[in-house]
Amino acid sequence: MSKKYDAIIIGCGSNGIAAAIRLQQKGLKTAIFEQAAVPGGATKTKELTLPGFKHDVGSAIMPLGLASPFFRNLPLQQYGLEWVFPEVAYAHPFDDGTAYACYKDIQATAAQLGEDQDAYLNLINPLLENWDKLNEDLLGPLGIPDHPLQFMKFGLKALPSAKMIADKYFKNEKTKMFFYGSAAHSTLPLNTLISASFGLVLTTSAHKYNWPFPKGGAGNFFDALVQHYKSLGGEIYCDQLVNDIRDLPNAYSYLFDLTPKQLLKIKGLNFNSLYRKRLEAYKYGAGVFKMDWALSEPIPFTSEKCRKAATIHLGFSQKEIEESEKGIHDKKMTDTPYVLVAQHTPFDSTRAPEGKHTAWAYIHVPNGDTTDYTEIIENQIERAAPGFKDTILERSAMNTVALEQFDPNLVGGDINGGRQDITQLFTRPVAKISPYATPDPRVYICSSSTPPGGGVHGMCGFHAAQKALKDHFSELL
Ligand SMILES: Cc1cc2nc3c(=O)[nH]c(=O)nc-3n(C[C@H](O)[C@H](O)[C@H](O)COP(=O)(O)OP(=O)(O)OC[C@H]3O[C@@H](n4cnc5c(N)ncnc54)[C@H](O)[C@@H]3O)c2cc1C
Repeated sequence: MSKKYDAIIIGCGSNGIAAAIRLQQKGLKTAIFEQAAVPGGATKTKELTLPGFKHDVGSAIMPLGLASPFFRNLPLQQYGLEWVFPEVAYAHPFDDGTAYACYKDIQATAAQLGEDQDAYLNLINPLLENWDKLNEDLLGPLGIPDHPLQFMKFGLKALPSAKMIADKYFKNEKTKMFFYGSAAHSTLPLNTLISASFGLVLTTSAHKYNWPFPKGGAGNFFDALVQHYKSLGGEIYCDQLVNDIRDLPNAYSYLFDLTPKQLLKIKGLNFNSLYRKRLEAYKYGAGVFKMDWALSEPIPFTSEKCRKAATIHLGFSQKEIEESEKGIHDKKMTDTPYVLVAQHTPFDSTRAPEGKHTAWAYIHVPNGDTTDYTEIIENQIERAAPGFKDTILERSAMNTVALEQFDPNLVGGDINGGRQDITQLFTRPVAKISPYATPDPRVYICSSSTPPGGGVHGMCGFHAAQKALKDHFSELL
C-alpha cells in the first residue's frame, strides 16, 4: 500500500531536522511535525529582555555545530549562516584578576601555564593531531571504531574522572581549574568516571576550530537548516503536538526527536513491556538555571583575556568547582557555583541596539529545582567583573520548570536529553546494537537521548536516519 510520506519526523530540534535533511537528501518524501509555534527546539533566539536585545534561549556557542561531520557538509552559508570566531575560544578568570585563555593556537595556550606547559601539550596535542580520525568515532554510533588505536589511546585519557586527569597531569591549581572549566560541561561531579572526556573533547575542539557562534543568534543557524531542508522539498508543520502516532499521516517510518519519558506517553506505539521498562529506567541528569541580561556596556571583566572570549568559565578554586558540581547531585547547592557565561555582542553587534550588549549564563542545578539563583550567579560574575551589576538594564531568569515549558525535551531542566555518565553516554537510551531502533519497526529515536548525546551537532539525527534508511530503503544507501 502506498504511503503519503516515506518518513515523518516528530520534533524539529537540531537532531530532528538533521534526520529529516538526511532522508530528504536521499530523495525520500518527508515532513516534520513540531509542537512549538516555530522550529528550533533548544536552538532559538528571542528578545527575552528588552526590544532589540537578541538572546539565545538555549544553545549559544557551537563548536560541535561547526565540527559536526554532517552539518559541516551542508550549504548553510548559502542561507545566511555566518560563523563568528572570537579571538579567545574560552577564558577562565581567577580571584587575583588574572585569567587563562584557550586560544586556537595550542602553543600560545600552553605558554601561559608555566610549569604545566609541557603536561598540557602532552595531554591535548595527541588528541588534536588525531582529531579528524577521533571525531568520526566520537560523534558516531556505538560500535567498532574506524580508528581503534587512536580511539583506545583517547579512551585511556577519557575514561577517568576530570579530577584524576587534572591531578595526574597538572601541578598548579589554576591549570586544574582551567581544565575543569571545560570538563564541567559534562554536568557530572568531577570525580565521576568519564567526566574527563568532556574536557578533552571540548578543549581539543577549541584548538581545532575555536568556539564559534552564529552571527545574529543561534536561531540563524537553525533558520539556515530550515531553508536548506525546504529547498530539498521537505515540509514542516508547526503547532502540531503529537500524542498518538495514529493521528499522523501514513508513513513507512517515524523518527521521534523526543526523550524516553516523552516517547513513553505517545499512544499507538508497538513497544513490548520489557522495552518500556528499560525506557522507564532511563536516567535524566542535572537541570540548569538559565539567565540572560540586557547590558548598557560589555561585562567589565578585569582580565583582558576574558574580554576577548565569547565563553567564560567561572569557578574560583578547584574545591569550589568540585563542590559545586558534586552539590547538584547531593542536592546541596553552594553559594559559589561553577557558572558558564557567554557574551556575543563584543564580537557581534547585530544582537543588541547600538552600543548596548547582552550576556547569557547558566549554572547546573538539581533536576526539577525551582530555586531562584539570580543573586548567586550575578555575585559570581561580579567577582571576575566588578561593576557588572551596574551595567544591567534588564534580566531574564528561567528555572528548570520554565525551561521545560519552553521545550518539553528539557525534562527537569536537563539540557542533554538524559544523564551522560558511563552507563548512558554510549548506550542511550538503552543498550542495544542500534539504540536508534525500537521494537516497533516503524519507530526510531533521533534525539540527544541517543549517541553521541547532547549538543548541537545533529549526529543523533543523522545516525537515526541512516538506520531508518538501512531498514526501509536500503537500496538508497
Ligand atoms: C540553556 C541551554 C544551553 C545550551 N547550550 C548549548 C551550547 O552552548 N552549545 C551546544 O552545542 N548545545 C547547547 N545546549 C544543548 C542543545 O541545545 C541540545 O543538546 C540540542 O538542542 C538537542 O537537540 P534535539 O534535537 O535532540 O532536541 P531539542 O532541540 O530539544 O528539540 C526537540 C523538539 O521536539 C519538539 N517536541 C517535543 N515533544 C513533541 C511532541 N510530542 N510533538 C511534537 N514536537 C515535540 C520540541 O518542541 C523541540 O522543538 C544547550 C541547551 C540549553 C537548554
